[in-house]
Amino acid sequence: MRIKKEWNNISIKIGLLFSGVFIGLLLILGFVFHGVFTDMFVDYIKQDLLARTNNHSRILGEHFDQATISHVVEMEKGVRTDVLITDDNQQVLASSVPPDEDMTDHITKANIDKGRVIESDWKNHSYIITISPIKNGGYVYMYYPASILREIVLGLNVILTAGGAGILLLAFASIAIMSKRVTKPLLMMKDATNKMALGRYRQAIPVNGEDEIAQLGKSIQSLGEQLQYFEESRNDFLASVSHELRTPLTYIKGYSDILNKGNIKDLDDQREYLGIIHKEATRISFLINDLFEMSKLEAGYFTMEKEWSSLNPIVEKVASNLKPAAEKKGLNLTTELNELPEVRIDPQRMEQAIYNLVENAIKYTSQGEVSIGTYSKGADVFVKVTDTGSGIPKQDLSKIWERFYRVDQSRTRKTGGSGLGLYVAKKIIESHDGKLSVDSTENKGSTFMISLKM
Ligand code: ADP
Repeated sequence: MRIKKEWNNISIKIGLLFSGVFIGLLLILGFVFHGVFTDMFVDYIKQDLLARTNNHSRILGEHFDQATISHVVEMEKGVRTDVLITDDNQQVLASSVPPDEDMTDHITKANIDKGRVIESDWKNHSYIITISPIKNGGYVYMYYPASILREIVLGLNVILTAGGAGILLLAFASIAIMSKRVTKPLLMMKDATNKMALGRYRQAIPVNGEDEIAQLGKSIQSLGEQLQYFEESRNDFLASVSHELRTPLTYIKGYSDILNKGNIKDLDDQREYLGIIHKEATRISFLINDLFEMSKLEAGYFTMEKEWSSLNPIVEKVASNLKPAAEKKGLNLTTELNELPEVRIDPQRMEQAIYNLVENAIKYTSQGEVSIGTYSKGADVFVKVTDTGSGIPKQDLSKIWERFYRVDQSRTRKTGGSGLGLYVAKKIIESHDGKLSVDSTENKGSTFMISLKM
């Protein structure tokens, strides 16, 4: 089991793969180098031997007498090579060593007019042998012992093998180090992802550099950060939802309990309490609607049914639907609709976004007016919702788009907002590649602006 695990280790796999390739390359290189070097060396020996044979035969050609023969033989004593001199009839006249069988065997009867190598098979014979004819008759033979060549080649083999083994060791060491460098961060990532699977999302993965492994480490780390963020916002969200539901439910329960006990006899009081129960139940119903919309937007489940359409009829519809609410508060709801090019939108969703903005404008305005305007400029189409209401404090402007964010909790309790309207509106506009922005001054009023590309 343990062995199987070891073989599954990526360092071992990389190490084996690289070592295999390396050994293969080393063997090929070794063979080639060995062959080329040996051939070159043997060639050099042959040429050198032949040159010296020719030299001797030239000297002997000038003076073919006993003194010169002795001089030549003397020259070859104490060196690796040997010389043998014959007359025209292949009778040995002199030699630097007593000739052995292999030397005499090669004395040739052939008519040779020029120096040449007559034996070069150093692997199967005792000598490399050259011959050179002497000008006035006779031959010079020279012998290079094959044993010396074999020793040199053996030495070369030892050097090559030792070098190869050294390189191989070095390669193994560097592969081991390299593999560890790959494996260690991978193992750290494995540990980190295991911990993330257990819910500990924020994990530090200490990786250096910019290579693919480092990038993977950084991606896992930022994935953890994202998961942590989602986890936290999910918890916040659940806390907000339960809080939002609990408050109206407490009212409903409290007032229905009072009515249930039958202590309230006065019909007007009963009506008032029932009115509160109804208002809070409506609040819950709105909240659930908003939550439903939001969850669809969040999960990306909502399908956009886009078509070419003008925004003006949508604005008109929203205005006419909300006119009674505005009038009830004594507000003037006006529209100023300019001619618009058609844009590709989901009319229902767009209506919802505009509805949320106008509804807010009415909700947070106690006197004055709410106006809705449409116009186009260049390649953009705009819907502007302006009110003369409470405005939004500067420090809250960036937060009003967040889920459940409400500027003034006590005020919104009265107005009955859930804190989801702007969040939903912004999501809708953004899924149309548009922008929703706000400009507001406290106690003066606000302007919400939708801009869409044509
Ligand atoms: P809500 O359901 O509470 O209205 P929204 O997401 O629609 O939630 O708005 C978030 C907050 O932004 C509101 O609680 C309110 O404080 C503020 N706000 C939105 N629109 C306006 C406006 N036209 N005038 C003043 N305040 C606004």
